[in-house]
Amino acid sequence: MRRQLVRELSDRGIKSKQVLDCFEAIPRHYFLDNAFAEQAYSNTAFQIGSGQTISHPYTVAYQTELLDIQKGEKILEIGSGSGFQTCVLCEMGAKVFSVERHKELHLKAKNIVRQLKYNARLSFGDGYKGLPTFAPFDKIIITCGAPEIPEELVNQMKVGGIMIIPIGEGVEQQMKKIVKISDGEITIEDFGVFKFVPMLENKVK
Ligand code: SAH
Repeated sequence: MRRQLVRELSDRGIKSKQVLDCFEAIPRHYFLDNAFAEQAYSNTAFQIGSGQTISHPYTVAYQTELLDIQKGEKILEIGSGSGFQTCVLCEMGAKVFSVERHKELHLKAKNIVRQLKYNARLSFGDGYKGLPTFAPFDKIIITCGAPEIPEELVNQMKVGGIMIIPIGEGVEQQMKKIVKISDGEITIEDFGVFKFVPMLENKVK
């Protein structure tokens, strides 16, 4: 089933072998409630509790490919959710820091990441604040739909760093690649349209 999913992702245009290998390596069914386990390898999004969803495999692969991860890079993820994307980033060889605003999801994700023996640092809190203690980051990935580019997160990026972020307030968002070319200067490039749950500010619970 995992191989079938990898073929589907490749047919849809994911080219990076490293990214495809992650989908072969990580047991996606661990991240879903039992009732959904059978469908874990279909290319769909699922409820993971607290009204949130685990991202579509294609979306995870697409964002990861855009991040262009090099081994050892320090990456900040906003929206740990199920922890699946976190594990993909670890599998790519990154040093991963991830923030989740839902306590219950945070604890569940932390547990599963540990069970799978990945070494990410998961935090409970508001992603809009980033993680100043561990900044600056080489790359930032936002896995919820943001109304605009969060300035504080740009501040926590290294010069030359990349942020992959879905922007939009409705049900659909435009994927954007932000490159910090100097302090106070960024470039923005548009990619496809995706659907994410909203990135909510000051809603830690
Ligand atoms: N990367 C996740 C995707 C989960 S969906 C995965 O692979 O499963 C997006 C997540 O972003 C949700 O769990 C939601 O609770 C979280 N989120 C939304 N706004 C947030 C914020 N301001 N800070 C941190 N997490 C946030």
